[in-house]
Amino acid sequence: MSFSATILTLYPDMFPGPLGMSLSGDALARGVWSLEARNIRDHGLGRHRTVDDTPAGGGPGMVLRCDVLGAAIDDAVPADDPRPKLLMSPRGKPLTQAYVRDLAAGPGVVIVCGRFEGVDERVIEARGLQEVSIGDYVLSGGEMAAMIVLDACVRLLPGVMGKEASGTEESFESNRLEYPHYTRPREWEGRPIPDVLLSGNHAMIERWRREESERITRERRPDLLKTGRD
Ligand code: SAH
Repeated sequence: MSFSATILTLYPDMFPGPLGMSLSGDALARGVWSLEARNIRDHGLGRHRTVDDTPAGGGPGMVLRCDVLGAAIDDAVPADDPRPKLLMSPRGKPLTQAYVRDLAAGPGVVIVCGRFEGVDERVIEARGLQEVSIGDYVLSGGEMAAMIVLDACVRLLPGVMGKEASGTEESFESNRLEYPHYTRPREWEGRPIPDVLLSGNHAMIERWRREESERITRERRPDLLKTGRD
């Protein structure tokens, strides 16, 4: 069974967008994963298919209505659907490579994309939505955040990446940032490729890469060295 993604959004035409190209696009065409984007507005109210209203208690902006979003979720996702239901949200659990790995190992995801000020709290509770953040900044909508979650998951699905190893040696997989890469030409603008990489001595190459990995992590992300995985 392939990884299946259902997106609930006010802008279904944004999908597959960039996910229809390159690695994820090829995998989509080959049926390694599937994507369905549903329009929340199909469940909007009245002649104008209204989906939002003013916040209770006052304040700026609009809030996605719980009745509209609840109906959209219920229509798209059967009660016994085993997939986790995510809500893209700046106050959610931070997206990490460990979390991505867990999602990619499962049957797929349902992703709700917020807009405006966000969504009515009651639908988050009632439908058991897991709030997920892609970082400490605020986007105007959850669609691009959802694409990031899917891009990160899809590249880990079996048969998507050329070499199995390229998924496990990368940044974050062992709480280290990746070592530097080089390719031809051997010298460029007076800058040579480090000798050790051309030595053919695989033990030395591995040691150099491990040391570079640790140096770069210490310099740029010392927090990764302190915390455990995730
Ligand atoms: N008022 C909200 C921000 C709303 S932004 C707050 O202060 O928390 C509108 C929508 O964009 C959100 O509902 C969410 O779906 C999406 N979004 C914005 N920033 C995000 C982030 N860092 N990660 C994931 N989704 C985000």
